[in-house]
Amino acid sequence: MKMDQKPTATLLELAAKSLLSNEPAAIHALNEIPRDLFVTLFNAAFLGGHKQMLKAMVRVWPFCCLHVGSLNTQESYYEILEAMIDGLQILPAQNSSSWGPKLRILDLRHDPDCGTTCSQIRTTFPFCFQSCIYSQRSILKIEEAQHNVRCLGTGNSESEPQSAQEPMELLVDISLTGTWRTEQFLSFLLSKVEQSSGSLHLCCRDLQIEKISAHKSILQFLDLGCIEHLDIDQAYLSEVTTLLARVINVSGLSLSNIPFKSYKGRNFRSFLIWLGQLDNLQEFSLSFFSLKDQLHRLLRVLPSQMDMLSLSYCDLSSRDVTVLSQSCQATYLRALNLSSNQIFSEADEPFQTLLEKVSGTLEHLEITNCMITDSTLSNVLPALSLCSNLRILSFAFNPITMPALKSLLQHLTHLMKLKYVIYPIPVHCYEEWNFRDTLDQQKLAKVQAQLNAMLQEVKRDDVNWTTFPE
Ligand SMILES: [Zn+2]
Ligand SMILES: [Zn+2]
Repeated sequence: MKMDQKPTATLLELAAKSLLSNEPAAIHALNEIPRDLFVTLFNAAFLGGHKQMLKAMVRVWPFCCLHVGSLNTQESYYEILEAMIDGLQILPAQNSSSWGPKLRILDLRHDPDCGTTCSQIRTTFPFCFQSCIYSQRSILKIEEAQHNVRCLGTGNSESEPQSAQEPMELLVDISLTGTWRTEQFLSFLLSKVEQSSGSLHLCCRDLQIEKISAHKSILQFLDLGCIEHLDIDQAYLSEVTTLLARVINVSGLSLSNIPFKSYKGRNFRSFLIWLGQLDNLQEFSLSFFSLKDQLHRLLRVLPSQMDMLSLSYCDLSSRDVTVLSQSCQATYLRALNLSSNQIFSEADEPFQTLLEKVSGTLEHLEITNCMITDSTLSNVLPALSLCSNLRILSFAFNPITMPALKSLLQHLTHLMKLKYVIYPIPVHCYEEWNFRDTLDQQKLAKVQAQLNAMLQEVKRDDVNWTTFPE
């Protein structure tokens, strides 16, 4: 199995490491080292936190794009990113390197599936799988416009500034949490974009915001049309709505702690209207958002085919679950989270119907802290065992006894895709149910041993049964 590749990689890595042992000499040698060594050298420099080297490498990077990709570092993370941004040649290069193409897309996002560069795979535009397709300031749109100008002969080609800087993109995930270091990083980012006088497009695909009101100015600055994932915590509904009108391409939206006065009010109605405009929405999460008996209004505006719906702490009623079970969304959902809602207080039929409806697609189900009792669980089991694609089941913090837990395990053994179950600690392990201090660790250990023995017996020890991670 790939016996021939491993030693080669190790040799390259060794060469990179030995080069980096003398950083100034390595930087000096950058103009002479072969192009093929750049990726390995970059990986080593990133992991070793060689900031000067990283800056120098970005400056002479011999490919069109550079992705941080799967590389990860805890130490001086922002310093490393800043050094790389600093290496970007946002002004026309004095003496560009002899290898031809230079860096056009610097991607600082952590993405385990992304390689360091796409340039070896693609030679024609779009040369990078990650290039921006939305912003008017993107390479794609600017070059399209320039091409049109040339073809149509509009504008005087003589007077076109030949030396103008080529458009570039800086891809970065932004987290507006208000910490000092984040603020410093942001102002560094903004100053770079300003220095570029329009040639550098700051492309943010993943934006997290805590308290919208504290970040008004940066939100004005960003092109929100580029955002694919938006995560908002603590904001007024009217503030959220204003933002929704600008994040038109978002595919994942998560809203948490959004207070509002009434369902009848104008704010809730315009929230629904703008939410309904998000045609690309695939994943939608609401938490700590009161929705009691109102879920039908939400489902009416959401796209009919969605991957994920998460509604924890939404005060859902069993009427809401009925509505969900009858919705078109239910037929497509791959992930569903209804945790921390009292949906089983009246009857559990709506939930059974819902499970039957989602059973064809559901891979991930969370019903943690829903006051599921033994009788509810036994009623729900037949529907649950229909979910043949289920991979993860989380139902911690529910008052279940040991016999019910065993019965659940027996019912789920034929679900071959199931790999992970987070189960509630059975009631007999507590002196007082769900009070952590009264938990008897020995009893819990015995429960785990019993479950493991049962799993082994039915040859399903590939499934990880565990209590809620501490
Ligand atoms: Zn690329
Ligand atoms: Zn963009």
